[in-house]
Amino acid sequence: MLGADYSSKFSAWLALGCLSPRMVYEQIQAYEEKRVRNDSTYWLVFELLWRDYFRFICAKHGNQVFRPEGLQGVRSPGNKNWQRFELWQQGITGFPLVDANMRELAATGFMSNRGRQNVASFLTKNLGIDWRMGAEWFESVLIDYDVCSNYGNWNYTAGVGNDARGFRFFNILKQSKDYDPDGDYVKHWLPELANIPAGKVHEPWKLISVEQRRFEVRLGVDYPNPVVDLFKSAEENERIYNAAFSGSKPKKKR
Ligand SMILES: Cc1cc2nc3c(=O)[nH]c(=O)nc-3n(C[C@H](O)[C@H](O)[C@H](O)COP(=O)(O)OP(=O)(O)OC[C@H]3O[C@@H](n4cnc5c(N)ncnc54)[C@H](O)[C@@H]3O)c2cc1C
Repeated sequence: MLGADYSSKFSAWLALGCLSPRMVYEQIQAYEEKRVRNDSTYWLVFELLWRDYFRFICAKHGNQVFRPEGLQGVRSPGNKNWQRFELWQQGITGFPLVDANMRELAATGFMSNRGRQNVASFLTKNLGIDWRMGAEWFESVLIDYDVCSNYGNWNYTAGVGNDARGFRFFNILKQSKDYDPDGDYVKHWLPELANIPAGKVHEPWKLISVEQRRFEVRLGVDYPNPVVDLFKSAEENERIYNAAFSGSKPKKKR
């Protein structure tokens, strides 16, 4: 999630029409022929397919992607807790991976795909907030804002898109340890956590007072306590989500 080279950073150019996806595709083909075919060339084409996919989704479903019930047509009852929404928006939820990504977005207008998936999952599956509030915030700040990619991905992540796998949420802690094992990313965007060792930086709420003094971070003062319990909140929102879906199953014809 940190630095120039983990992904192409083509999105703003593609979204604004400065770069054609066919040109990128042709350059990759030429590169593979002349130089090498590797994981990066494979994934770049794969990601462009996602871009196409969401364009086709929007062409097929039109304005449905903007509706709260999304493509599933089932009203998932997201709440409109503005107080909690603002904690998410400003990057002060108490979960370093979420906060670092949201602060990066506010400062630069960009966030990695990994980050976008995690913060969108956290907003909808842990805070239980209406996915459209997140989509609109992204729309207002992303330098690569693209109507199909943004609303298509938000439908998908909120579980109202055409992903049949139901309520799935990102385990923020596991994601933090898998994708930021040394804590470099969170420390970059959250300098108040800079002195915490890598093994503890993703769960600052576990620091006892002597550690808080040693690492120069006071919980609830320099960095917030977590706004929710990660697993309990996901369970609660899963119940709400499943109730919405089971309550609206079409009745069998007799
Ligand atoms: C909730 C959410 C909202 C998003 N909103 C947008 C948006 O408004 N505009 C936008 O361009 N992308 C959006 N994305 C997709 C993706 O996060 C960005 O395209 C990607 O992070 C841009 O970085 P890159 O150019 O280095 O990507 P690379 O990984 O290098 O991919 C190359 C290109 O493929 C396309 N692409 C990659 N991943 C996706 C994807 N999941 N869906 C659609 N296209 C993709 C982009 O055009 C990207 O530039 C969103 C993803 C999520 C989860």
